[in-house]
Amino acid sequence: MSSNRNYSQLTIKKLFGFAGGRCSMCRTKITLNATENDEAAQIGEIAHIIGSSEDGPRGDGNYPKDKLDDYENLILLCPTCHKKIDKQSNSYPLSKLHTIKSNHEKWVDEQLEVSNLEISSKELDIIIRNISSGDYNPSFSFEEFEHINVSDKINKNDFSSQVKRLLDIGLIKTYEVKSFVTEMDKVDKKFINALKSFFKDKYLELKEKHDDNDEIFLELWEYIQNDSYSFSENAAALSVLCYMFELCEVFEK
Ligand SMILES: [Zn+2]
Repeated sequence: MSSNRNYSQLTIKKLFGFAGGRCSMCRTKITLNATENDEAAQIGEIAHIIGSSEDGPRGDGNYPKDKLDDYENLILLCPTCHKKIDKQSNSYPLSKLHTIKSNHEKWVDEQLEVSNLEISSKELDIIIRNISSGDYNPSFSFEEFEHINVSDKINKNDFSSQVKRLLDIGLIKTYEVKSFVTEMDKVDKKFINALKSFFKDKYLELKEKHDDNDEIFLELWEYIQNDSYSFSENAAALSVLCYMFELCEVFEK
């Protein structure tokens, strides 16, 4: 990732989130797990589709400079694939790179969808215990809105089509999240409120920082994935997030 570029935080979240933290070409994970001696590390590279410099690979002096660093002109790659498309740029014209990017994002959606169809209480247990283990003292009173119309709520938040698609995928399994949470609440009466408090706290904190609901959604999702990079846990986290989207006072309603 060049350090002198002007990628917005939202652009970076979209690139990593929609690409599932994988190289868009070879699909290798671009996050290295923590080891005994090192912290987790990120080795992904953000590559320009229209080149960042006029004379470099895929350069185009007529392309508006202020659009070069937009999400639409970027693709997430591993270092090797980034080298490949730059060293053999004639083999990777613009149209090919756009196709690679959109095919990869579709593939990620499909992996999440398949994983979501199979999420088990094992994944939910990991995700939910992790986020509800903090000491979130409910200072809020919660209004239940069981009868909320989710599609109305989605429309009120001006999400991009990609985030809407993530919501569709996550919403498939919210009833499983609900039954899991209900069981947990029988054992620990504070459980549901702790979970809601977590989401409301975190949501309000992010709302102070960001205007864009895509950014809030993607950051919440990233936050509750708990450094996990398996599709099944990512999908479970997505369903938990979508369940809380339905259940509590987060996002516009
Ligand atoms: Zn690669």
